Amino acid sequence: MKNTDAADQKNIFTFLATCDISARTKGRAIHNKDFTPDSSVGWVPANLGIGPLGHIVGGIPYGSSGDVRLKADASSLTTISGIPGQSDINYCFTDIVNTDGSPWESCSRTFLKNALKELEETHDVSMTASFEHEFVERAASRHPHPFSFSNFITAEPISSTLFQILENAGLEPECWLPEYAEHQYELTMKPSDPLTAADRALLLRDITTNVYRAFDSEVTFSPVATAETGGSGVHVHYGLYGRNGEAISFDPERPGRVSDFAAKFNAGVIKYAPALTAIFAPLTISYLRLKPDNWSTARAFCGLQNREALVRICPTNEINGKDPAPQVHFEFRGADAGANPWILMGCIIRAGLAGLEEDLDPVQIVEGDLDLDGIHKNLPELPSSLEKALELFEENPTVRSWFSEAWVETFLKVKRDEIDQLTGKSFDEQCEVYADVY
Ligand code: GLU
Ligand code: MG
Repeated sequence: MKNTDAADQKNIFTFLATCDISARTKGRAIHNKDFTPDSSVGWVPANLGIGPLGHIVGGIPYGSSGDVRLKADASSLTTISGIPGQSDINYCFTDIVNTDGSPWESCSRTFLKNALKELEETHDVSMTASFEHEFVERAASRHPHPFSFSNFITAEPISSTLFQILENAGLEPECWLPEYAEHQYELTMKPSDPLTAADRALLLRDITTNVYRAFDSEVTFSPVATAETGGSGVHVHYGLYGRNGEAISFDPERPGRVSDFAAKFNAGVIKYAPALTAIFAPLTISYLRLKPDNWSTARAFCGLQNREALVRICPTNEINGKDPAPQVHFEFRGADAGANPWILMGCIIRAGLAGLEEDLDPVQIVEGDLDLDGIHKNLPELPSSLEKALELFEENPTVRSWFSEAWVETFLKVKRDEIDQLTGKSFDEQCEVYADVY
């Protein structure tokens, strides 16, 4: 563990943070004494075109000229304190704005804010969300056993340190669990509004990585740490409620006990999932995870408590007569850590909104296990590679219309450059590249 000198623990900086197209958190720091709720710092539009491999991709619509600003959203201000050997820092998410303060066309946080606003205003509803993260401790050598207390206890004292740091930073960690795959853990957080949930998802990754580093250990949130190990997902739980939190998703008379409103929302998510796969599974190795018998997502379907569903109707706790109505909510299981959480959450909302606007019929709800050779063989498939996923995204005018043209062009160029750079590498080598990035 690093030396923890009290002198290191001064709190000097406020980091003004954004997240790019490849889900890396970026930004600039100012002195705490200079921070005001109006603070902003300069930023470069071309930064949008930096892929996971760390270079600005050529041919994107943003070049060497132009300026935007990272404008603090003071409601997100928090303090990260207690990472051994590191100074405490203040941390604030930002929206990217033009130099006159108007929203920048390609800001991913604004993308989520706008989608949420439209859902709330058009349908008079509110939403909750929470991101669950799985990650793997790299180079761990002890013999693991799935879900075991032995796995749990060998993560001490890192786990207690991390959980308390997350708690102090306001992330409301809920559960820390030793997972199924080798040296894999999972952290869940309590539900909040979707913007806060996506902000917390970003913070959780950086804090977790840094706490492990402080103990001379490395973790990765990459969807597949090595080609042989089980996948790590980012599951997004979402709930739909009335403006004042009224339960609107429960209807005991309907399939899966899901109300007509929620079923239409979910039908939109299922309908647009193939075109959105490049967004929620955006790495070349994401497709090693999205397959049958992997407890990730075998097909684009809605399943009752089924862990191979893209959208899972989550179980309710009815012990001692607890009311299921306010508990009914859904879990989007397709995503991984390559996806920008603001864009991911925004796309789930946009797809749900489309389901409501198009008045879609509810999709079939799969009950019990999948029978892909029999009754479930016609369930819609997701693309099986990033190349195919990008084509479906590119060809879908509805999905494209949710973004600025420049964002679409940049995204396609960044992702196709990434494929080019990784072509010729084995899956093992690709896994290694991504494990270093995520
Ligand atoms: N590890 C699985 C995934 O890749 C999820 C396992 C579970 O928590 O159900 O998404
Ligand atoms: Mg899990």
